[in-house]
Amino acid sequence: MQERVRSAQLYEEAKKHIVGGVNSPSRSFKAVGGGAPVFMKRAEGAYFWDADGNRYIDYLAAFGPIITGHAHPHVTEAIVRAARNGTLYGTATEGEITLARMLKEAIPSMDKVRFVNSGTEAVMTTIRVARAATKRNKIVKFAGCYHGHSDLVLVAAGSGPSTLGIPDSAGIPVSIASEVITVPFNELDGLKLALERWGDDVAAVMVEPIVGNFGMVMPKPGFLEGVCRLAREAGALVIYDEVITAFRFHYGSTQTFSAAFPDLAAIEPDLTALGKIIGGGLPIGAYGGRREVMEQVAPLGPAYQAGTMAGNPASVAAGIACLEVLREPGVYARMESLATRLTGGLAESAARYGVPLTINRIVGAFSTHFCDHPVTNYDEAQDTDGELFARFFREMLERGVYLAPSKYEAWFLTTAHTDADIDATLEAAEASFKAIGQG
Ligand code: PMP
Repeated sequence: MQERVRSAQLYEEAKKHIVGGVNSPSRSFKAVGGGAPVFMKRAEGAYFWDADGNRYIDYLAAFGPIITGHAHPHVTEAIVRAARNGTLYGTATEGEITLARMLKEAIPSMDKVRFVNSGTEAVMTTIRVARAATKRNKIVKFAGCYHGHSDLVLVAAGSGPSTLGIPDSAGIPVSIASEVITVPFNELDGLKLALERWGDDVAAVMVEPIVGNFGMVMPKPGFLEGVCRLAREAGALVIYDEVITAFRFHYGSTQTFSAAFPDLAAIEPDLTALGKIIGGGLPIGAYGGRREVMEQVAPLGPAYQAGTMAGNPASVAAGIACLEVLREPGVYARMESLATRLTGGLAESAARYGVPLTINRIVGAFSTHFCDHPVTNYDEAQDTDGELFARFFREMLERGVYLAPSKYEAWFLTTAHTDADIDATLEAAEASFKAIGQG
């Protein structure tokens, strides 16, 4: 049993000053039995150390960005070098060109790029740009996909909002919510109906091409093609939210992930939203797309978007360094091989103790759903045992393994995880499944 006295003290103090004691609701432990979240003090490679000095193997990876592990020397050095030269200028810099070029080379559908500060901002702006380009108002999104916390997309939102039981956030005027149409993921009938009814006023269909926010969910064969075809027939743009997926499964995005989806190579969205990994652990977001669509954006066009912090030199330097690490041969294959061994072992342990478990793995990322049915859409992801997940989460935490405190979030491997980490995690999982199971 680990002692977390200091975390408990810090939580009491934090609650006096910070709403809910956390600066992002997904960090709270509300959905996993409540109480103090763990306050981390330091991180290196695949490990966290908390305020009481306990060590954890980290599978949160900060909800995705930390793909090279914590404090990777190449990334850290780039950040330090950038900071020494001044942290923000409010002017253009050469580093922004370098990172933009790297993104464009990896994701050819992006003729032009603009940097912002978060995935939320990136998505929010793609919607504005799509509306400007089409002179239409509505957007279609898929149930359970999470696209950040801007007004239009906090309807049927997965990830944190679903975890906390508020998929439709308060504070969003009906007039705005009525501009969003939500349809089920992985089937085309809902989308078809929506476009038949409202197609004339739909500016864009937005999708997480591989879902990361109600677990990891693959699009069924033909689904994304269908989405793009139906959207374009209706005169709407296609927005891919690749905030999680870009550079997660290979050096590129879902759009260029032809090894897994031979039929996907030809699909190019009109706009793409990016974030997380492309900032190497510092705040960043980016959006990009077809030249004529992107030229709607000020100063070239009438759609306004700006940012004091945008393209800040430290984030850009960290992003470039992170992508340089990911460009090394064999990086993704190694994460995949570790993840494959890990998910294989988790499935065996769960089965041994009669714990129902469905695992969705894609390369080095996967989700664990406590259920005995496949998870291919939001309804199926909701229909899983959150109580059992919470108990598993607590058991793993006690054994020094840190998972996201939500049944909807993924486990992320990093380039820092080792075979020994997988062994230790499987040992912890064996004991955890035994504790919660009937075997
Ligand atoms: N889109 C997707 C697919 C995401 O997963 C997230 C964050 N989890 C966002 C957008 C929002 O990004 P941020 O938290 O950086 O605002």
